[in-house]
Amino acid sequence: MKRRAFVAAGLAALASASFTHRRAFGATAGADLGAVGLDGAALILKGKDIDDLRAALRGELIAPGQAGYDQARRLWNPAFDRHPALIARCLGAADVRSAVSFAAAYGILTAVRGGGHSFGGQSGCDGGLVIDLSPLRAVEIDPLARRARVGGGALLANLDREAQGFGLATPAGVVADTGVGGLTLGGGIGRLGRRYGLSCDNLVGAEVITADGGWRRVSAEDNPELLWGLKGGAGNFGVVTEFIFGLHEVGPLYGGTLSFPVDATARQLLRNYADFMAGAPDELYAGLDVSADDHGQRLIELDVSYCGPVRDAERAVAPLRRLGKAHEDSLGVASYVKLQGSDDAPGAAHHGMYLKGGLVRDVTAGFIDTVVGCLESARLDTFDLGLQPIGGAIGRVRPADTAFWNRAANYSMHVLGYWKTDADHDTVERNKVGAGASWQRLEPLTHGRYVNIASGDDHDSHLAAAYGDNYQRLAALKKQYDPRNLFRLNANIKPA
Ligand SMILES: Cc1cc2nc3c(=O)[nH]c(=O)nc-3n(C[C@H](O)[C@H](O)[C@H](O)COP(=O)(O)OP(=O)(O)OC[C@H]3O[C@@H](n4cnc5c(N)ncnc54)[C@H](O)[C@@H]3O)c2cc1C
Repeated sequence: MKRRAFVAAGLAALASASFTHRRAFGATAGADLGAVGLDGAALILKGKDIDDLRAALRGELIAPGQAGYDQARRLWNPAFDRHPALIARCLGAADVRSAVSFAAAYGILTAVRGGGHSFGGQSGCDGGLVIDLSPLRAVEIDPLARRARVGGGALLANLDREAQGFGLATPAGVVADTGVGGLTLGGGIGRLGRRYGLSCDNLVGAEVITADGGWRRVSAEDNPELLWGLKGGAGNFGVVTEFIFGLHEVGPLYGGTLSFPVDATARQLLRNYADFMAGAPDELYAGLDVSADDHGQRLIELDVSYCGPVRDAERAVAPLRRLGKAHEDSLGVASYVKLQGSDDAPGAAHHGMYLKGGLVRDVTAGFIDTVVGCLESARLDTFDLGLQPIGGAIGRVRPADTAFWNRAANYSMHVLGYWKTDADHDTVERNKVGAGASWQRLEPLTHGRYVNIASGDDHDSHLAAAYGDNYQRLAALKKQYDPRNLFRLNANIKPA
């Protein structure tokens, strides 16, 4: 998904209102601290226990009022202004164990933060404990075994750059400052996916701290059912401190941006695009995004890449060039790292966002009419609609082979409304309502959901559509590894 295309919703705060008034207290050493429990009720953290946790950690434990608190609590989507009671910045698996054990002992609301890019603000919380993995960004490549060991808080840029140093890569998302953690645990759709599968399809192992504070090695031999669950089952089963991925040889790609003005030919352009993608080679990725550029011009933008031999690329992308008279054509030979970083603007987004999305199987005439109808009625300066192609290798994995169920989908679609961070309440609501209205028209044309493209207001309702027949197996796994549902700020599977 293009960075500009991000939505996020301001949503249900899990913390009780009373916490808001207490959150400034307790930063002093030895002082008790007000917090929020898993059930949403207020609880008091004893000063001595907080001090013990601080002493146990190699990383910092940051409370409200302490230096760095406001920076540490910030999420990528500024629509969510969360105020945790404590933030544990973990420097290693032992820190994560200490933080998880503290959380379990108190039953405190617990968020796990990887790259912090959740659209629904799920890596933060009001009044709870944030287990912050952002210091865990180490990446180690074994070029002979073609394996990458990746810290639980690493960003795609960390993984892509280190692996490309050896001419290798594993499928990831299309924006380099997204977190490997959330992306992989939910699925992971990107430029290499049609050829090599989802990020989670390339996950061969992990190290996980489960809700009981236990350390688990996960692989095809050790805890294989847990490995199955990590492949799309989101952050439900524990904190992944290290991911292990298989790697592929990935040389220079051919790609860039191809854009066309939105005009009377838009309907035919979308038809021709979808017809071409239906028979496109696995090596070709062409994400479509409709929004306005910085000058307010409405554009259909294709994020194109071809990961096969460069000599075949011009021929492979030629039908896309014939879609219309291009406004921009930057296609050419480019490194994978360059393409992955082409849409980056590190740090939090400058817009709050509200996003809805679902999976699309067939781009029917009715679907195109609805998309065009949404574009005609939306204010395009604050609205974005996108399609990420799936299919290829992703579709050849059987639904029950990983927790990621929806293998027949051909696109992941999103609509989002966005607003400047200083926008007033009415503007925010107008943009949320606008995106929601488009979604209401598009949702009946979707088949299934993708947990990484979701807002905080639909995490429960969309689970069945995301997990299909895998849900019961996931619920049993959840019961085995997290019976109290400590890890609930995610696409939450209820233990059963
Ligand atoms: C700019 C942008 C571009 C995107 N592009 C794509 C794309 O191309 N393809 C795609 O598939 N998705 C894309 N997404 C969606 C993305 O996959 C999700 O937002 C994902 O959750 C981000 O992961 P994160 O670690 O950064 O997020 P976080 O907010 O840190 O975490 C998201 C969820 O994962 C859990 N989690 C994270 N790390 C761990 C861990 N190590 N152990 C246990 N739980 C963990 C968190 O608790 C939370 O529930 C994009 C999102 C953004 C904002």
